[in-house]
Amino acid sequence: MNGEVKETKDALVSAMEPFHYGIFEGIRAYVEGDILGEGDLNIFRWQPHVDRLRRSAVVCGLGVPYTDEELLEGTREIIRLNGYRRTTYIMPRIWPKAEAVRRRGLSDDWHVVIPVWEMPTRLEEEAFTRERRYMISSWRRLAPDALPTQAKAWANYANSGLAGREAARLGFDDAIFLDSRGFVSEATGACLMTVRNGRVITPPVTASILESVTRDAFLQFIPEDLGIPVEVKDITRVELYASDEAFACGTGGEVTPITSVDDIRFGDEYPGPITDEIAKHFMKVLAGNVEERRGWLTPV
Ligand code: PMP
Repeated sequence: MNGEVKETKDALVSAMEPFHYGIFEGIRAYVEGDILGEGDLNIFRWQPHVDRLRRSAVVCGLGVPYTDEELLEGTREIIRLNGYRRTTYIMPRIWPKAEAVRRRGLSDDWHVVIPVWEMPTRLEEEAFTRERRYMISSWRRLAPDALPTQAKAWANYANSGLAGREAARLGFDDAIFLDSRGFVSEATGACLMTVRNGRVITPPVTASILESVTRDAFLQFIPEDLGIPVEVKDITRVELYASDEAFACGTGGEVTPITSVDDIRFGDEYPGPITDEIAKHFMKVLAGNVEERRGWLTPV
């Protein structure tokens, strides 16, 4: 926290902090060789996450007062001090210090905190095969001229929170947003991919999605490693219903197969065969077992 190692209980800030004005990242580190096991950790796609943090900072008028190397060394140090040897989540957060509130957020004094904790991968059998019912939210995904949808800004997550709570209240597992134009956007904390006639289809960045690091990896490895064609295009609500398979992808959600949307079921198999193939390959990539993708891993 601000350059010091602190125990969580001592990482305190003032209640006057402008909590609506922060940015953050969500990054995972996985166990080398077998992501379900225990051992040395590699951070998945460290640099694209740090690059996005810097872009989010620029858009929101914040700064990242450390070099990439300092951020990496700090993260490594916390993981080592905690002795973590299982899947770990890393959440760098930046926001202006309290006095900036009086200056309408204008500040060159920021909190930079990197909380790190062990968080099990969901890519294990039981969690992966559990059926998941999604719904189309009655809340639209925030418009790109209302908030910086492509940036990872805390404020955007009020939108996700509303949709997530609506879904929970109605007994669904999660929600999918339509964007302000009425096209399919993304889930509350993950991007969406559908499968139709053997092609993977995902909405474009202009559909108000977060520019997801996982989605970017999938757009590369699905065609290149698995030979499955991928298309980035707008998806209508009806096209989504008519998909053979659908899954959410992101750092936290990894690959989350979706059973149905608005209780319209996808295909006969769950998870669908292409979703399953992608998830299994992704597990190999994360474990460092795909030689050509080892460049995506940064050892702790
Ligand atoms: N969309 C939203 C709203 C998210 O919160 C996340 C998780 N960061 C994603 C998509 C997936 O992004 P990433 O693959 O970079 O984790």
